[in-house]
Amino acid sequence: MALRIIIGLLLTVVAAAIAGRRLWYLYRLARSGQPAPERIEALKTHPGRGAETQLTEVIGQRKLLKWSVPGIAHALTFWGFIVLLLTIIEAYGDLFSKHFAIPLIGTWAWVGFAEDLFAVGVLAGIGTFAIIRLRTDPRREGRRSRFSGSHTGAAWLVLLGIFGVIATLLIYRGAQINTGDFPYPHGAFASQLVGHWLHPLGRSANSGIETAFILAQLAVILGFGIFVTYSKHLHIAIAPVNVLFSRRPNGLGPLQPMRSNGKVLDFEEADPDTDVFGLGKIEDLSWKGMLDLGTCTECGRCQSQCPAWATGKPLSPKMLILDLRDHAFAKAPYLLAADGAARDKLPDSVKSEAERPLVGDSAATGVIDPDVLWSCTNCGACVEECPVDIEHIDHITGMRRYQVLVESAFPAEAATMLKNLENKGNPWGMGEAKRAEWITELDFEVPVIQDKIPANTEYLFWVGCAGALEDRAKKTTKAIAELLHTAGVSFAVLGPAEACTGDPARRMGNEFVYSMLAQQNIETLNEAGARKIIASCPHCFNTIAREYPQLGGDYEVIHHTQLLARLVEEGKLKPVNPIEEKITYHDPCFLGRHNRVFTPPREIMEQVPGVKAQEMHRCKERGFCCGAGGARMWMEERIGKRINTERIDEALGTDPDTISTGCPFCLVMLGDAVSAKKGSGEAKESLEVVDVAQLLVRSVRPANPEG
Ligand code: SF4
Ligand code: SF4
Repeated sequence: MALRIIIGLLLTVVAAAIAGRRLWYLYRLARSGQPAPERIEALKTHPGRGAETQLTEVIGQRKLLKWSVPGIAHALTFWGFIVLLLTIIEAYGDLFSKHFAIPLIGTWAWVGFAEDLFAVGVLAGIGTFAIIRLRTDPRREGRRSRFSGSHTGAAWLVLLGIFGVIATLLIYRGAQINTGDFPYPHGAFASQLVGHWLHPLGRSANSGIETAFILAQLAVILGFGIFVTYSKHLHIAIAPVNVLFSRRPNGLGPLQPMRSNGKVLDFEEADPDTDVFGLGKIEDLSWKGMLDLGTCTECGRCQSQCPAWATGKPLSPKMLILDLRDHAFAKAPYLLAADGAARDKLPDSVKSEAERPLVGDSAATGVIDPDVLWSCTNCGACVEECPVDIEHIDHITGMRRYQVLVESAFPAEAATMLKNLENKGNPWGMGEAKRAEWITELDFEVPVIQDKIPANTEYLFWVGCAGALEDRAKKTTKAIAELLHTAGVSFAVLGPAEACTGDPARRMGNEFVYSMLAQQNIETLNEAGARKIIASCPHCFNTIAREYPQLGGDYEVIHHTQLLARLVEEGKLKPVNPIEEKITYHDPCFLGRHNRVFTPPREIMEQVPGVKAQEMHRCKERGFCCGAGGARMWMEERIGKRINTERIDEALGTDPDTISTGCPFCLVMLGDAVSAKKGSGEAKESLEVVDVAQLLVRSVRPANPEG
């Protein structure tokens, strides 16, 4: 008895020392990041949110359960380990007394039953994981496997470790039944089964097995505990913390303002010597960013949904996080060194790692290859899928900001767009007067705001650069104006006084040009007295509704599909003319995933008589990008398959007569891909890409079949 106490306690002290030292090291590494006072502030302002997220995301496993089979397997394992905390208490108690039982509940049959039920649940969970891993083995599946690039060896070790925990548990409990030391008279069905198998060995052998396997159980748990702190399974310890401090409701929608030393950067007062301009070094990440890196479970859910990865580009959001994490660990001795003298004594390998730029001319010199960085469309699929709330877009934007603002290193073709934004206020560099030309093509008046929004005018219609200047998008603009006019909604436009919201500049990383345009627009909107705004472009919608408040611009913004769906519901618009077509709707990322507007466009289509709506496989939260976001619209797509072509291939799988959407950029990207497909004979000549507003106007007003 004394020996088993000594061995058990010795194992515990050694394991606690090793794991504790490692956790302290990890804590110091996270603290070497920049301050993030806004994360603490957010929790203080909404104290209930912390508990809510722990309940839904951690205990409830909400995001994991979105993938039913692996989600249930993970939930069984996670919930199992929570219940099995009771068995750890029992194992320690058994060290000291063979007849130990947890006070009060320790002999209740249903507790013994629950422990065994969850032990079996964990076995079922890890069995499922093993099958999933075998079926999606990256050695066979290559890029198609979500585990491609993950540390698969460590994952198998973890599964083995968990199996060890459950196997030793059931064996010592079975032996206890035969020695009369088991606290539960009934209920522990799995332990009883194992006890039945061990019974023929006799009481004395069972007594030896009991002692050996109690110690084995503790050794496996403690060994697993150490392994966790050194492996990707660190997420067991830090995922709840990462989720607690993550952006709510998620890391989608608005980009965060640029911060330096924890404060929002003011370009007019910024000091190039002391201020941080984006992410140039790993220690420019905030502690929350560092936490993100340590939390990644390498599950590859993000990678499996990334349009860049799916079309053969080098960007995988998972590998981007893993590369940053590996670099952070390799540079850690440098970051944690007490002073310059201590740094001088570090091995050359650490010093050269410390010198590596975050983004380099090539993967050989930089941690992240420029082709990886610039492949991102900001579609948000990675953030949406990540079960531990890693905020990939924030990291990508941080690195882009440094590249653009400090290094002036970005795809050359995007330079023209930036210059046009600065000089002309739109990405195409067209004259401002052109912004009002579409109005002259209507047969009714649209008031253009000269100074103040006219009295009794409810909405300011924010047309957007594409909506005003791009020929295909102009058709949507005219359709919306006509529908508003028909429904008797009063609205006015800014015309030449409207400038780009700054979204493409911001998504490229040029926060300076973005804030210049944003401030100018906020001034214009405030002077006009605008309060309620209709946006037809989801990028404008996202920027005005969710990013302008960061600069003091607060407006009530509605997307045109939301307003039109409401007008149809209220009977102010009556779709009466049938459109006998099979139509598939493409969710724009910045309308759907980033801003959760999924239903209104579909409701509009439902109300148009004759329309047969057909969903693509990747739709709603899992919608697949058109390739234009993240300022990719303004960059060449040189690597892999074109994203818009991939999307159209999927759309063609539904054999549509028409493809509808709710974004001018999607309209252009998908339209281009359809034209190419028509050229190659893969799509029928009559196939069209239209905005849902164009569909609606056709049904409401038969005299204008062109929309
Ligand atoms: S935002 Fe989209 S394109 Fe960018 S890394 Fe995430 S999934 Fe890939
Ligand atoms: S970033 Fe998130 S989704 Fe991607 S591999 Fe890591 S944990 Fe999984």
